[in-house]
Amino acid sequence: MTNEKFIGFTMEKTKHIALVAHDGKKKELVEWCDRNKDVLKNHFLCGTGTTAKLIAEKTGLPVKGYCSGPLGGDQQIGSRIVEGGIDFLVFLWDHDPDVRALLRIAVVYDIPVANNLATADFLLTSKFMEETYERRVENFNVTIQERVKAFQK
Ligand code: PGA
Repeated sequence: MTNEKFIGFTMEKTKHIALVAHDGKKKELVEWCDRNKDVLKNHFLCGTGTTAKLIAEKTGLPVKGYCSGPLGGDQQIGSRIVEGGIDFLVFLWDHDPDVRALLRIAVVYDIPVANNLATADFLLTSKFMEETYERRVENFNVTIQERVKAFQK
């Protein structure tokens, strides 16, 4: 087990992209996916239930569907980020409540996140989409050891 403060996680050339859109943003995201399907077809796609199905039907691309957002699908995606199974998030939101938990976890795990289409365009055309990329994530094993020690003083 490494004692470094941060750990590098390598994103492969083929990215695991999560797609989530609140109801008022679904059309925007579905059309963006359709416009970009030639790039998206080279990656693994997943999303919250309704968003995933709408994208799959419009684009013909395979999109793994988690539960619908209101049933916790956004939290399933958060847990996949924690497990290292997602390396890129497009999350178009139009209301607040469930947004923060997923954004927080994306920040902690150094995942590129787009919350609007301009950012999604910039991310999708990044040179890193064609390369591996090293994310930097805090090594919580060290943090836990330090926290446990602090509580035992
Ligand atoms: P949905 O979930 O794709 O199942 O609609 C997203 C949301 O939280 O609205």
